[in-house]
Amino acid sequence: MINREIFLCSICNVSSGDCPEDCKYCTQSAHYGAQIQRYKFKSIDKILKEARTLREYGALGFCLVTAGRSLESDKCEYIAKAAQAIKEANLNLHIIACCGSADLDSLKYLKKNGVDSYNHNLETSKAFFSHICTTHTWIERFETCENTLKAELGLCSGGIFGLGESWGDRIELLKHLQILSPHSSPINFYIANEALPLPMQTLSQEEALECVQLAREFLPNTRLMIAGGREAVFGNYQKPLFEAGINAVVLGDYLTTDGKAPKDDVAMIESYGYIAATNCH
Ligand code: SF4
Repeated sequence: MINREIFLCSICNVSSGDCPEDCKYCTQSAHYGAQIQRYKFKSIDKILKEARTLREYGALGFCLVTAGRSLESDKCEYIAKAAQAIKEANLNLHIIACCGSADLDSLKYLKKNGVDSYNHNLETSKAFFSHICTTHTWIERFETCENTLKAELGLCSGGIFGLGESWGDRIELLKHLQILSPHSSPINFYIANEALPLPMQTLSQEEALECVQLAREFLPNTRLMIAGGREAVFGNYQKPLFEAGINAVVLGDYLTTDGKAPKDDVAMIESYGYIAATNCH
């Protein structure tokens, strides 16, 4: 029987832009001057307000995201405070942090302060990574995922498709994700942007669906979460994504691009015959 439950997650970009890294797919890199909002350390009150609103729309997960290469001590302290505040508000949200490369002690500290999971994407294959980023390595990314598991946090790790990688690269990425066995895996499709150095191209729907099907084959028990690019590739008809194996979505806005209003996303999912999960089991 097909599982009709879809998990709703959400993103809160708590520190945006001016990142010194040169990831070619990212509008938050300071190298490319993309037109985005830039700010540092959103107020905890504002974070709480967003968490409440997204919870009301049915989000079960709430991810605190910061731009930048790694989880330095001031960032770690700030994320711990934000997580504590959300826990104290009793919103029953699964709290995820996404703050770049992180060592074991910092991740243990986040766990102690209310963070449930850590998101760090492998993004692409080990071999292709140097084509899309030269300021840090794929190995650093993999090690952070390993540290996450050692810290006994839930691991959320996935990648981006449509960066110019081959099918061989996609398989290599999925093989490494299989080794890590994340509880959830964000699937992103690259969103072309004139400011970025990658070609102005978007995956076709057929190719994007093949990526999802392949991810489902490699990760049969992982929550496959469609994240950035679902509107850019699929427009308003996204049912094929769920039929191909997606069972989680990022509600509302992404990091630097607007999504649909959360209520419209929920209505769309229900119109396809699926229901929003009510428990983050
Ligand atoms: S490290 Fe993160 S925020 Fe910085 S450019 Fe790369 S993906 Fe963007």
